[in-house]
Order: sequence, then structure tokens, then C-alpha cells
Amino acid sequence: MRAYRAWVAETMLQQTTVSTVLSRYRPFLARFPSVDALAAATLESLLHAWQGLGYYARARRLHEAAKRVSVEGFPSCHAEWRALAGVGDYTASALSALVGGRRVVVMDTNIRRLYARLFAENDGGRLAELAERVLPARACGDYTQALMDLGAGVCKAREPRCGNCPVRGFCEAYERDATGDFPVVRAKPERPLRRATVLFVVRREGERRFLLFCKSEREGLLGGLSELPSSDFRDKNLREDWNSEKVLRKIFSRLPMKTVRRRCLGGARVLPSVLPSVLPSVLPNVLHGFTHFRLLLRLVEAEVVEGASNGGDVVAPYFWQEMDREGKFSDLALSTLMRKALAAYAEVRGGVENGLYQC
Ligand code: SF4
Repeated sequence: MRAYRAWVAETMLQQTTVSTVLSRYRPFLARFPSVDALAAATLESLLHAWQGLGYYARARRLHEAAKRVSVEGFPSCHAEWRALAGVGDYTASALSALVGGRRVVVMDTNIRRLYARLFAENDGGRLAELAERVLPARACGDYTQALMDLGAGVCKAREPRCGNCPVRGFCEAYERDATGDFPVVRAKPERPLRRATVLFVVRREGERRFLLFCKSEREGLLGGLSELPSSDFRDKNLREDWNSEKVLRKIFSRLPMKTVRRRCLGGARVLPSVLPSVLPSVLPNVLHGFTHFRLLLRLVEAEVVEGASNGGDVVAPYFWQEMDREGKFSDLALSTLMRKALAAYAEVRGGVENGLYQC
């Protein structure tokens, strides 16, 4: 059980902050209390539980690896952990030390910072040598856990809590009054800004409202989740001209449900927000930060008028999902980006209901 919990925690922490993981780790374990439960779960339910953690490829690989572990048992060394889907070199080291007590150097960002200060050393190769040299012969799991705790809770990046530090007596940087010099922090390059458009295609049936979604079949960023149709913000060469109606037509043309496109052109009412030159910025924009870029999403709405023919006919991976009055879709596995876009849209729809937003 300890191996399973540590594995889940290390996987969640790979690209997500501790504060975000804290609120999702226990609910995840409550839903999938063992590796067998995880292996038996559907990918959809796993992605649903992974919401808010980002980098959903991790969840898919965890699922794949859980199926294997459920049959073969837990790994017992670095090489066996490394052979599992989604387990990289660092995670394999951490798990073989934490779970198996193996004598192996574990070096994440926090531990590297701690070592850099303890040894007053900024050279990566030299630090690795020193870390190897001070590894204890026994209880490597406890030792590694202690390093992780010290790095995360005491030897913090900005303001190390030297006054409460139990290893202050061994700390060379503290001794030299030079904790700010270790490690050397390189300025992060500014993340580029991409612009994209997300489409809210609405279908009404009396009082009921449906939004068009598609199930992403891609690997990688946001793969496997339900999402709104959009221009391809994953394309790093994306240079979208928001004032261009050509861009909008291109997005509409990508939709496989020709019915909606036909309706938009011949019979369906397209809200003015689809034509930014007529009524720009009616819907708010949404800014979201990914690790390597920032994304400014323009929200565009199109409505399929009640009573028009063929409105409900869409083919996979597209599907209609009913919207509640808050614009929520609790049953869908959605990325934080899509949730942000939906929240912004719901806010505007609230304005519509209250007569604040006229199209
Ligand atoms: S004394 Fe300060 S700088 Fe040194 S390890 Fe402890 S917290 Fe970090």
C-alpha cells in the first residue's frame, strides 16, 4: 500500500505544485484506494479524478502501468520502476529509495537546492558526487524523505528558515552567510503568448441547452479529455489573427458535423460574437498559463436555432452535453483551461439571463 501511495504522489508531483497536489491526492486515493482498483477503473473516471492536476498524459500512463503492476506486482528496484510507463529516472530513484530503501541518490529541485547550500556548491556534477558520498549505508528511504521534507519545508527557495534548520551546523552556505548565492538561479525566459479561439456551439431543445464538445484523441497536452472545439493552440507556430473572419471560418470548417456548419451558413442564427468585426470582445478572453507558453483564448459563441433540422446529428469524437444553469458539466473530464473558459462563458450567460448581455 505504501508503494502505491508513494507512486501516486510522485506521479502527481512530477509537474504539479505541492499545494495543488495536496487538495487532490486524498480524494484520488479515496476513489482508487489500491493499484487493483486503479487498474480496474475506466480511463474516463481516472481522467475525471485527475482534473486540476494538468498534464493528463501522466494519468493515462499511470493507468497503463497500474494494469501491469496489478498482474506482475510492485517493482523492487530502480530498473523495474523505470520499466513502467510514465516512470522516469528521477521517479524510479525516488521510489526505489522511499519504498525499497535502496541506496540511490535522489535529486529533485528542492534536494538540489538543499545540497547546493549545504556544500556551498553550484556545479551540478560536483553536487552529484557529493550527494553520492554522503548517502547513508542504511535507511536510505528515511534519509531521502528527510531531504525532501527539509527542502520543501525549511530550506525554501526564497527565504530559507535557517533559524529552525536541524542541519544548520553542517551548512557551508549558512556558515559563510551566503545562502543567497546557492544555488545560482537563472532567469526564466519569458513564456511566449499564443492566441487561440474556442467555440461555444449551443443547441437548444425548449428550456434545455446543450454545448458541443469533442473527446480529444491526442496524446500529450490535454489528451483524452473532453474539450470545446478550438483552434489548435498546441501548435507552437500558431499566429492567430483575431480580427480575421477567415480564422473563424477555418475553425467552423474543421467541425465534422456538417449539419452545424450548414446551419450556420443557411438557416441557423449566428450570434454577432462570431463576427468580431461587428461586435468584438462581447465574450471575455481567458488567459491561462502552461509551462512553456501562455494562452489567450478568445471565446466565440454560435447558436443553433431551435427547430432547425439535423441539429443533433454529430459524429464521434463530437458530442452534445447538456448544460446546467451555472454552465457546469460535472460529469465530464475537463482540463483547467476548459473549466476556466466555461466559467467565463457561464458568467456571461448569467448576464444574458439577467438582460445584461444582448446579442
Ligand atoms: S541552514 Fe539554512 S541554507 Fe542551510 S540547509 Fe538549513 S535552511 Fe538551508
